[in-house]
Amino acid sequence: MAALMGQMMERPLLISSLLDHAEQYHGDTEIVSRTLSDGIHRYDYAAAAVRARRMAKALLRLGVQPGERVGTLAWNGYRHFELYYAISGIGAVTHTVNPRLFLEQLVWIINDADDQILFFDLSFSALIEKLAPQCPKVRHWVGMCSREQLPAEAIPNLLCYEDLLAAEDADYSWPDLDERSAAALCYTSGTTGNPKGVLYSHRSMLLHGLASCAPDVFGFSARDCVLPVVPMFHVNAWTIPYAAAMVGAKLVLPGAALDGASLYELFETERVTFCGGVPTVWQGLMLYLDAKKLKLSTLRRGVIGGSAAPAALLQKFEQDYQVKIDQAWGMTEISPLGTYNRAKLKHLKLPLAEQQALAVKQGRPPFGVQLKIVDAEGQTLPNDGVAVGELMIRGHWVVDHYFNLDKSPLQNGWFPTGDVGSIDADGYLQITDRAKDVIKSGGEWIGSIDLENLACAHPRVAQAAVIGVFHPKWDERPLLLVVPREGETLTREEMLAFYEGKVAKWWIPDDVVVVEALPLTATGKISKLQLREKYRQHLAG
Ligand code: ADP
Repeated sequence: MAALMGQMMERPLLISSLLDHAEQYHGDTEIVSRTLSDGIHRYDYAAAAVRARRMAKALLRLGVQPGERVGTLAWNGYRHFELYYAISGIGAVTHTVNPRLFLEQLVWIINDADDQILFFDLSFSALIEKLAPQCPKVRHWVGMCSREQLPAEAIPNLLCYEDLLAAEDADYSWPDLDERSAAALCYTSGTTGNPKGVLYSHRSMLLHGLASCAPDVFGFSARDCVLPVVPMFHVNAWTIPYAAAMVGAKLVLPGAALDGASLYELFETERVTFCGGVPTVWQGLMLYLDAKKLKLSTLRRGVIGGSAAPAALLQKFEQDYQVKIDQAWGMTEISPLGTYNRAKLKHLKLPLAEQQALAVKQGRPPFGVQLKIVDAEGQTLPNDGVAVGELMIRGHWVVDHYFNLDKSPLQNGWFPTGDVGSIDADGYLQITDRAKDVIKSGGEWIGSIDLENLACAHPRVAQAAVIGVFHPKWDERPLLLVVPREGETLTREEMLAFYEGKVAKWWIPDDVVVVEALPLTATGKISKLQLREKYRQHLAG
């Protein structure tokens, strides 16, 4: 018997509908940007929507076809926000390129994506001059500026953003696209091998955005003022520019100034209520607030993700600054939301220490994704908070296959994340490591994240990393690298003593190196790859 079909309207889930909504119902809500050279720029969703439609017409006039990729190399700012909507809105694909990658990687990515037009912020003009000759298929390079600000560098087929806009009016309606069509493209950072492109659809992004706004995730509302420190070139700034439009939250875009002082100034002057960033950003902010003895008047919530959040950092913000930072886990391949850590009702009755132990976990999946862990044979392991295995995920916003690559990474319909961890009976994930960062000591595994977390609890430690280095007897042993807080000193002996009684004896690192700074990846995470290369033979004897 044929199924009885529902009889409800079917409207496509489209990126453009977010901006339409924000324009219609939150038109006078502000978008504030710190620009590179013009100070603070301020307008509202209504003005942004008008400019996005004019940019859409400009893109069509330049001959951009549905499905074609249009690249951006830009900070978090209002023109980048307009491009997010203008490019996807006409049915083309917003390809955000991470300017922190090496030149060869950028060339590879832009050519692999086959970007037709590339928009850039002026701080990247010198980079564009080097890129352009190696990316001959890019038809136009567009400076995101006014005519008088156009860079002096030798850039072929150079156009000006404000000139393109000036030539168009806003008399344009967003087309009704197929919701499954491609909307945005992001590349994984490719720490091993070439970067891989993940092509999001309008549908996957809308469902991901809805899930992100839920109360146990970002929980955004029209009373929020949100500031993504996470760059718009990194997994769509964790969807914040879309989620903010969805609910009509005020949006503050910090540009290139991501230091503690610049962020603090925006928090206070714009009355920011929510902020999102990787641990190194929150750490930097904490050190600044501490050093200057400052308080935060309106910031009360935040999200930390991208790498494991040290417990000490979460507790410090909650106790000293009344900011509740929730941990999230995700990756480019999953748009990025995989888990978010909010307590359940029953957890609120737990003693503080147990609540804090829960907060260090990566969190539980929102509706829309499912997780499981498997052993080396691919057998599902129990969700008992003890068994550790490779984490697999499936859901509405998880990659099916990579851009330009035929072979799907899926295993029986699940995406293998390359992360290792446990899942407890309530669904809370605890990552112990990335598979490639696990320390294999005498056939046993040591999780670096736990050891880093403990080191960060030391009052004079600013940052810590634990890596596995070659050991003649045990194959690998943990090595701790620590950065002391400014003006402080640390010794090997006191760090090793700090671990005593807190972890199994054989987990305690074999040595400690005190360093001035730790190398970072293009996404602002501590680069264990570089550390391993440098210290591989440290214990070789
Ligand atoms: P990359 O770090 O390679 O630039 P992604 O941003 O996609 O690319 O990184 C995803 C990876 O970051 C995850 O697979 C995981 O290893 C790590 N990660 C993300 N969030 C967390 C977290 N809260 N705790 C621990 N690891 C995390």
